[in-house]
Amino acid sequence: MRSRIRRSDDFARIFELSADESSALKHAEDHLPVAITPYYASLMSRTDPEHPLRRAHLPREAEFVVSEGEHQDPLGEEKHQAAPGITHRYPDRVLFLITNQCPVYCRYCMRSRLVGKMDKEHLIPMSQWEASLKYIREHDEIREVLLSGGEPLLLGDERLAWLLKELDTIPHVEIIRFSTKMLAAMPQRVTPQFLRALKTNKPIWMALHLLHPLEITPEFSKAAEKLIRAGIVLTTQTPLLKGVNDDAEVMKELMTLCIRNRIRPYYIFQCDPIHGSAYLRPPIEKGLEIIEALQGSISGHAVPHYVVDVEGVGKMTLAPQRYSYSENGYHYFTNYKGETARYYDPDSPAPYAVQGTKLHKQEKRN
Ligand SMILES: *Cc1c(COP(=O)(O)O)cnc(C)c1O
Ligand code: SF4
Repeated sequence: MRSRIRRSDDFARIFELSADESSALKHAEDHLPVAITPYYASLMSRTDPEHPLRRAHLPREAEFVVSEGEHQDPLGEEKHQAAPGITHRYPDRVLFLITNQCPVYCRYCMRSRLVGKMDKEHLIPMSQWEASLKYIREHDEIREVLLSGGEPLLLGDERLAWLLKELDTIPHVEIIRFSTKMLAAMPQRVTPQFLRALKTNKPIWMALHLLHPLEITPEFSKAAEKLIRAGIVLTTQTPLLKGVNDDAEVMKELMTLCIRNRIRPYYIFQCDPIHGSAYLRPPIEKGLEIIEALQGSISGHAVPHYVVDVEGVGKMTLAPQRYSYSENGYHYFTNYKGETARYYDPDSPAPYAVQGTKLHKQEKRN
């Protein structure tokens, strides 16, 4: 962590920077700090600014352009804050922000309003934690606590162990979930002491923030294996980013590498409309196209949900439309290869009477 590349002259020493990157590095700190671990930098191209991991983590001028529909807090997390550090948006689970620092800073971070503020790095005061824990203790409908941040695994081992013990004493909390970039950006975090700190009576699930097959290195796989042997369940969450991973072949490779490492793909997220993210945000259509390409062509275990998180309504799962129309008791379906077949079920009304479906039916008749 201490050896992270942070200063623009260090970037200039390590990378052949483009003019765009170079000028953006000079004032990026005002928006979102820049930091990259030496290990993660070693996965990037020194010469190519369009290298996927470089695009996602080195700033460029487009990041300072605010486009229509973009917000500082696109999911309205502040508005839905139930207690300090706690967002309670779904009935049985809460989001608990426990740090505001990260091993690397992602240019598309939807919490850029909170993370990496230099003066208060690491410093979420104990009083805030106590207030968050109090809320969880007092709400017995909470079955799952999602520890996030910033990077939750940046907590020291002792503090992490303390927090897990506290959660262990709350009977209604059944599951702990971490959302973490650590395994991709700094798999060296998984030390024997760290694994000891994670020992708790509750099941721990970890959603790994993964972008690209380049991140699935031998170091990554070893760290993942240690976590799995310690009884932790690993899943993924992958933001869909233009020029990084908005490509069916890249996603196919990433997801199949995950299942080979016993990691269950969970979410592909449509990139949240944070300020300055337009250059990284692909159209929703792209996400659907990728799911379409994954379905059927690779193991169902390797196909994540494609999700658009929408302020006010939450995560919306989108999938290619398989249902075509219904007629005379038959329901018509089209699979990933475009083959159509019908299923007889006269008692059901057409389950998806949507505009697109009707159009589809008309096309058929023509
Ligand atoms: C994403 C999210 C969750 C978890 O949702 P799942 O569908 O269980 O993955 C919980 N709380 C908040 C505020 C979230 O944004
Ligand atoms: S690791 Fe997560 S919280 Fe940190 S900058 Fe990246 S997306 Fe944001």
